[in-house]
Amino acid sequence: MADPLSRIMAPQTFQELFSQWALFPDAALCAGGTGFMYGQGSRVPEFPQSIILLDKIEELKKISRTERYLEIGAAVKLSQLIRIGKIVPEALRMSLSLAADVQVRNQASIAGNICLASPGRIPDAVVPMIALDAQYELRTAQSSRWVSAARFSSAAPQELLTRIRIPLEVWSFTHYQKFGSSAIGIAGSGGSALFMMKNEKNILANLRIVCAGKSIFRDKSSEAMLLGKRLPLLPKDSEAFADRWKNYLSGTDSSADGLGEDAQGELAKVQIINFVRTVLRHISD
Ligand SMILES: Cc1cc2nc3c(=O)[nH]c(=O)nc-3n(C[C@H](O)[C@H](O)[C@H](O)COP(=O)(O)OP(=O)(O)OC[C@H]3O[C@@H](n4cnc5c(N)ncnc54)[C@H](O)[C@@H]3O)c2cc1C
Repeated sequence: MADPLSRIMAPQTFQELFSQWALFPDAALCAGGTGFMYGQGSRVPEFPQSIILLDKIEELKKISRTERYLEIGAAVKLSQLIRIGKIVPEALRMSLSLAADVQVRNQASIAGNICLASPGRIPDAVVPMIALDAQYELRTAQSSRWVSAARFSSAAPQELLTRIRIPLEVWSFTHYQKFGSSAIGIAGSGGSALFMMKNEKNILANLRIVCAGKSIFRDKSSEAMLLGKRLPLLPKDSEAFADRWKNYLSGTDSSADGLGEDAQGELAKVQIINFVRTVLRHISD
């Protein structure tokens, strides 16, 4: 149960937020609050002692679009991004639709998902954000910086993720799959995999495969080997690509990549290879 001395702050501006945070540096940011409940077995979940609610800051709830980018405020709910339709890239909509359940998605925010600290587990929005080359804006009281989704691991102390910028590219085909023993579970108790490709006049103009087990897997050199190939792919090119992925995964150092030499890690590798073979079937002779 919440400590009677707990403090809940609800700033309306960034300035208010950072001055409250300076007074209570241990306070945790809380967007939807579902991340705090995740994995807690007790009937009454425990929350940090001091909380800064983000839902009064209008700036964090905005979604805007330019010719080149979609910008999403940190506190935008997962369900809103799913509902909004085609301006949100299909890869992101697909992954969010499979995150948690509808009640959680109505409550949970996109930045809460990205910033969820859950060791060995990759939250669902992370894979599409990396594949889509998203950038995150992070602010402190004094400064702001942009960091690519591929390089982001966590916000620094007293740092707020404010918005997400996603380049608006047209992808001809997107396929996303979440693995795992339970439908409601973060990738990591299983994993997830995403394939996106761009077909320009039957030439494979761009492709990306990003997968998550307990960590992220992306082999840019295998992507490069298919670029410029005519579609549908020849069986020999598909086979060479699948073999490359197999070698890449088997060559990953389990201590560094976090998959571990356990049954779960091995299963994730098999699922990723099966996923690669499935998407190749879609684009091969
Ligand atoms: C039953 C259940 C099932 C779930 N299933 C899934 C699932 O399938 N896939 C999945 O990915 N997740 C799952 N989760 C975890 C969680 O619901 C999601 O990750 C959700 O998106 C978190 O968003 P939130 O707004 O509720 O985050 P919060 O709980 O508010 O915050 C999560 C963390 O992010 C930090 N944070 C929040 N906003 C910011 C910000 N703007 N800047 C910096 N740090 C910030 C918080 O301080 C906290 O550490 C599940 C949770 C529950 C309870």
